[in-house]
Amino acid sequence: IPSNGFLRSPPRSYIYQKRWVKVDADYLRYFDSEKDTYSKRFIPVSSISRVASVGDQKFEVVTNNRNFVFRAENDADRNEWIRTLQQIAEERKSKAPERTLMSSATDSATELADKSGFLELRGFKHKLFVVVAGDKVFLYKNAEDYRLGIGITYIEMNVGNVKEVDRRGFDLTTPYKIFSFSADSEQEKEEWVEAMQQSIAEALSNSEVAERIWAVESNRFCADCGSPKPDWASINLCVVICKRCAGEHRGLGPGITKVRSLKMDRKVWTEELIELFQKFGNMMANQFWAANVPPSEAIGPTSGSQERRRFLIAKYREGKYRHYHPLFGNQEELDRALCAAVTTSDLAETQALLFCGASVTCDTGDPQCPTPLALAERSGQRLQMEFLLHNKTSGWFGGCCGAGQSSGRLLSAPLCRAEFSRRWCTLQDGVLSYYENDRNAVPNGEIRVEEIVCLPLHSCRTWHSCSGTHEAIENTFEVYTEADRLYLFGLESPDSAREWLKSIAKSFVHPHAEELLALDFERLGRLHYKGGLTLERAQEGWFALVGSTLHVCSEDGRRQEPLQLRKLQELCDGVWGITSPRAEPRRAGRTLYIQGERKLDFLGWVHAIQKAAGSSGDTLSEQQLTESDVPLLVDRCIDYITQCGTGQGIYRKSGQNSKTTSLLEMLQRDARRVRLKEGEHQVDDVANTLKRFFRDLGDGLFTRRWAPDWLWATALEDEEAKVGKYRQLLAALPPVNRATLKALINHLFRVQCFSGENQMNTHNLAIVFGPTLFQTDGKDYKAGRVVEDLISHYVEIFNVNDQEMKKQQDEITAIMKMREASSSGTQQAGDFICTVYLEEKKTETEQHVKVSTTMTAEELTFEILDRRKIVMKEKDYWSCFEVNEREEA
Ligand SMILES: [Zn+2]
Repeated sequence: IPSNGFLRSPPRSYIYQKRWVKVDADYLRYFDSEKDTYSKRFIPVSSISRVASVGDQKFEVVTNNRNFVFRAENDADRNEWIRTLQQIAEERKSKAPERTLMSSATDSATELADKSGFLELRGFKHKLFVVVAGDKVFLYKNAEDYRLGIGITYIEMNVGNVKEVDRRGFDLTTPYKIFSFSADSEQEKEEWVEAMQQSIAEALSNSEVAERIWAVESNRFCADCGSPKPDWASINLCVVICKRCAGEHRGLGPGITKVRSLKMDRKVWTEELIELFQKFGNMMANQFWAANVPPSEAIGPTSGSQERRRFLIAKYREGKYRHYHPLFGNQEELDRALCAAVTTSDLAETQALLFCGASVTCDTGDPQCPTPLALAERSGQRLQMEFLLHNKTSGWFGGCCGAGQSSGRLLSAPLCRAEFSRRWCTLQDGVLSYYENDRNAVPNGEIRVEEIVCLPLHSCRTWHSCSGTHEAIENTFEVYTEADRLYLFGLESPDSAREWLKSIAKSFVHPHAEELLALDFERLGRLHYKGGLTLERAQEGWFALVGSTLHVCSEDGRRQEPLQLRKLQELCDGVWGITSPRAEPRRAGRTLYIQGERKLDFLGWVHAIQKAAGSSGDTLSEQQLTESDVPLLVDRCIDYITQCGTGQGIYRKSGQNSKTTSLLEMLQRDARRVRLKEGEHQVDDVANTLKRFFRDLGDGLFTRRWAPDWLWATALEDEEAKVGKYRQLLAALPPVNRATLKALINHLFRVQCFSGENQMNTHNLAIVFGPTLFQTDGKDYKAGRVVEDLISHYVEIFNVNDQEMKKQQDEITAIMKMREASSSGTQQAGDFICTVYLEEKKTETEQHVKVSTTMTAEELTFEILDRRKIVMKEKDYWSCFEVNEREEA
């Protein structure tokens, strides 16, 4: 008998506070107000041993170890509460007497803890004792309270969502509140996140579907590896599979296999689909797909993920083990046979035909029933229909399906994000129409595919922030049209969102650019651009953004080399022409001008390109990179320190903390825009920024996977064996880490060349950089030893050839000369002599100019004009540009 009402508590302080109190079959809880979802305290009903009146409208709840005193508004209220509580406690005792007797801690949390321990929670001064148990997360003040079963609150995980925030922090988000936790270590955090995700899965799971499907013997073992109790399925292939195989299935893409959980994706499991799995199931599927598996290629429950993937690709993508249909290779015959098969109950025949090439959207020649699906419907073959529906991807939107049959449920709404409304959508003959529901014949609206200019797919992250308290729709994509309108669509699963997106894209992308469709793009659209050899005329091109790579296909079907946006030299935006905005991603030797014609669509592109060109995380490969795969940030710092001189105690002197912090932030945000300048930036601040970057680097320079091996290698006594091991470990690092390590050690190698001036010999540098690079406390010298070895054996370990070495020596000499010169006052550090040609590259037009660090392009231009005694006439326009001879520019 659940009961609610206001009572005053707590007991000892004699000051009673008004609390909203709730009691149900399991817990007595009190809240700050009746609006709160999460309690201040909960007391398990099972731990209540006595409830008694203590005078003055008061009553006492006695648990095994603690008493709580409540005061009601009046005696009648009080008596009502006592009666209710006594009754609930009695009922509880009679139901589970053995549990109450057995231990004082009768709360379910103590018995079933999946994970427990201390965590910091924002808003609490002390660490809380947190317990993940089943489908709930419980919060306790401390371990003692946990033992007694008396907690603060619990969170039902069916509404939870867990997200990692930083190295130690993670958020548990519910529609009512965000709990921001922080663990003691990164590993601890990962364990907690995993435990909470398990808990969510458990809260959402439902084994009814699984039990029904498992009723068929062959479905009780994974169709691919034979693991028992498989609780996943591919709903188009009609196979029941284990979790590990499901993971690999996903890698094949939804075009080949659509993976769903038997326990969690409840909505998918219609009566027809369950029946199809019972009739069809693993046995029939494998009679076709696994008719000829050589024993050496088969996989088992313990097979590794690579083996699994190889097997699944061969089985489903290549169809290597198929039982070929006799009509294989004869398209017309296959299609005709399919039209016949779908009117019978022979599902095996349909399967064989479909996966040997028959087209699910073939023309039946029957105007009443133009598709196999319509034929199946007329014959009343529900399971055939179900099977066809899940395999409709290829050519589904070919235009020959009737509207009602070829459609799926989509949510749509023009421009208004928070108020999605459910619409029935169809894509047919180049028109995307949306209807009030699937029975309506007149659409609410239509989008002509040829008017579409851009299709961005949205990730869930951007959603949470703007959906507020509304139920977040996580799988959305947008459609921008020529009229500069924006439509937003949301779907129930990421797979179906992608499927719709690809189908729409397929019908709007120019045939010349079709290869872009094979990409896993986040944004696809058409834009005008200038670039390459056709700078005089803007042409239409098709653009696809995939991660940080921009793919471009020109209107004549030439695919350009993809642009690595993180390696861009510069990204400018501005106005091109009079009204058209423009974005200009530029790389060494190549400039691409992108012209936007519609504001909304264009701003979307600019934003997406800017984001893709920036750093996306705190690991090395997520940074903006130079051509040689070194983070731009590292490159900028090293360059600056080299130029400005490595003064005494460089890297040992501490810079100004606040300056280091802000410089690092600036560089991480957009290193491309930061220009380190003498006078503005102290060399020690820059040195510390570099150190801080490596110390905080996600996964570290040596990677968590390999760092222990590097440290271990220091114990090798034989020098040659040790160097060999280092070389081996270097080869194992990801390319960006390898390039960065080489650049850094090269730099340190140079720094120690000047140890006479800066006092930083190899050993001193190693003391500083060892713990920084390995992110250790530096108590032992192993980390330092690695750095010392790397510098001492720089040439051997990094395979530096004579030419490289000579170039380096020359640079060192040049720097030394420059320093001497600067100390004698004849030249500023940073000046360099440069050759400038006027109009043509010929000996006669050659000029040598000393360019100082402060000289502008304009000043340089005037200097040259002045020397050649050229007088500027009105409307003359002179400019200077840099030619990089190593690049083809
Ligand atoms: Zn399996």
